[in-house]
Amino acid sequence: MILVSACLAGINCRYDGKSNEIEKIIRLVESGEAILVCPEQLGGMETPRKPCERIDDKVKNNDGVDKTKLFERGALETLKICKLYGIKSAILKSGSPSCGYGRIYDGKFSKTKIDGNGLTADLLLKNGIQIKTEKDI
Ligand code: SF4
Repeated sequence: MILVSACLAGINCRYDGKSNEIEKIIRLVESGEAILVCPEQLGGMETPRKPCERIDDKVKNNDGVDKTKLFERGALETLKICKLYGIKSAILKSGSPSCGYGRIYDGKFSKTKIDGNGLTADLLLKNGIQIKTEKDI
């Protein structure tokens, strides 16, 4: 069993109420090989919501409001799900302040990416879960 970002499976959980549907990911869920989660919704963020970006260990929306606690809660709930299912690998949405792996936005809402991970990706990595993004499949 692997974990996938829900928006990659066509769930409209993105900040703008849309998805990042990828047929291959949907097939993984349909075949029972993957389960989906949206860490931001699990953390209590509304949908749609204001875009957020990570700045060091904080996550703020584009009004400067600190949403770190909700992002941390979403990461912990996602890890809990991984443990329940014995999940060892995940395919997560690139660039996200939660799911992003390797490259994320720079926290200035300037459309510029820097090296780094989202909060959920970081927590999963620390717990031994391998991560790929949709760009790797
Ligand atoms: Fe997709 Fe992850 Fe953002 Fe949810 S938190 S919308 S699953 S990238």
